[in-house]
Amino acid sequence: MENRIGKRPIIIAIDGPAASGKSTTARILAGKLGYTYIDTGAMYRSVTLKVLRAGMLDRLRHDDREVAGLLEGVDIEFRGDRVFLDGEDVSEAIRENSVSREVSFVSSLKPVRDRLLELQQQMGAARAVVMDGRDIGTVVFPDAELKIFLVADPRERAKRRHAELSLKGGVDAAPTVEELEEEIRKRDRDDEERTHAPLKRHPDAVVVDTSLSTIDEQVSRVFQLAMNVLEG
Ligand code: C5P
Repeated sequence: MENRIGKRPIIIAIDGPAASGKSTTARILAGKLGYTYIDTGAMYRSVTLKVLRAGMLDRLRHDDREVAGLLEGVDIEFRGDRVFLDGEDVSEAIRENSVSREVSFVSSLKPVRDRLLELQQQMGAARAVVMDGRDIGTVVFPDAELKIFLVADPRERAKRRHAELSLKGGVDAAPTVEELEEEIRKRDRDDEERTHAPLKRHPDAVVVDTSLSTIDEQVSRVFQLAMNVLEG
């Protein structure tokens, strides 16, 4: 099978810590290649929203078995830029702070990881995907033809998140840069230290530091890496 640029389809795995620019880069890259973009963070956020709505969070801290029932029929679907959970557009709801605060905990649960791993592998089975997350190159698609690990200074990441939130809800409603930096550092720590599929760089992954680069520079760097693989 060939894609829009006439090459054999590959999988591009983009991993890295919170707010390192993964989703923006991945989305634009996928558009340029005619590939499907899969935001696995949005999938973990959707499950977290479902857990919160079911009022199950506190019980899961003691016993995670109950989550299996919730996950059985879960339906997560991407339509263009939007994410649908059981048919409902949750694109905004999954970015709420209540979800951001608990998503690392919910994604540390083994039954959650097992179920989403299965869904993600199905979504990428035909290849021609750019998938971003924390464990795509290490666990979901260790055979991805191109693995990228995006990093950026935590302060820079907090500033970017602040600018993003200010644009959406106004600067007064947004948490401060300091608060966001603390939240980001905590989430990095939780993601790196968990037992199942922790955030870590695959030895083959190309590290791209985005601290000092613009989105355009980031995208052209990863596009070049993709072209090298596609043409290699
Ligand atoms: O990418 P984003 O910051 O939206 O991801 C939210 C959270 O989902 C991460 O902090 C992490 O806890 C979890 N996640 C994960 N594995 C992935 C993608 C996201 O554990 N592949």
